[in-house]
Amino acid sequence: MPRLTIDQREVEVPPGATILDAARQLGVEIPTLCFLDGHAPNTTCMLCLVKVGGRWVPSCATRAEEGMQVENDTDEVRHLRRTGLELLLSDHQMRCRECERGDGCKLRRYARIYGARAARFRGEQRGEKGGEKGDESIFAARPGDVIYQPGKCILCGLCIQVVEAAAEPLGLAFTGRGFNVQLSAPFGHSIADGLGQAAARCIEVCPTGALSLGRPSGGTMNE
Ligand code: SF4
Repeated sequence: MPRLTIDQREVEVPPGATILDAARQLGVEIPTLCFLDGHAPNTTCMLCLVKVGGRWVPSCATRAEEGMQVENDTDEVRHLRRTGLELLLSDHQMRCRECERGDGCKLRRYARIYGARAARFRGEQRGEKGGEKGDESIFAARPGDVIYQPGKCILCGLCIQVVEAAAEPLGLAFTGRGFNVQLSAPFGHSIADGLGQAAARCIEVCPTGALSLGRPSGGTMNE
């Protein structure tokens, strides 16, 4: 049973536990956007970085070891997380006021906690054209339709993992390059087809409003 410290608080965890598990055992929140219990770490968002022995490591994917001294609540760690969030926000369609995800958006919640501002790295964005087939498909959506908005997708990969775990026959993958990367289903199928029976769970775990049901409203940028 390894014993370690997180922000100088000692904790003993079962063998195989991660630093994130240890933090949760202590009641310490480490932010995660791309990690889902029961699934392998994606390590795409890198928000859960902590410092151990002078090295940055993702806490979701790093085993807790005997004698580790983990720095989590320091100015340096907070600064790194704030910068990571600002980079995500720089590529995020800021329609918070109109977004039905509202306070359930993890990106928005962490941005508030860490004081991240969307404007810092503002520039060209992914998904500026709107939905999977452009804005028209979003505004033509009927209540109950599954909607994917690339401009809100942070490419965390959670929906892909959930679809894989559910053994959905089509599945989803990221396709495209640079600002054109987005979720796609194979053979020209829709995102809804790719999500299949796992759609509700994927909408639930999506950390932003990138996956939703029904017709989203348009809106203007709102920081
Ligand atoms: Fe992650 Fe949501 Fe994008 Fe899927 S749609 S990759 S869950 S942000």
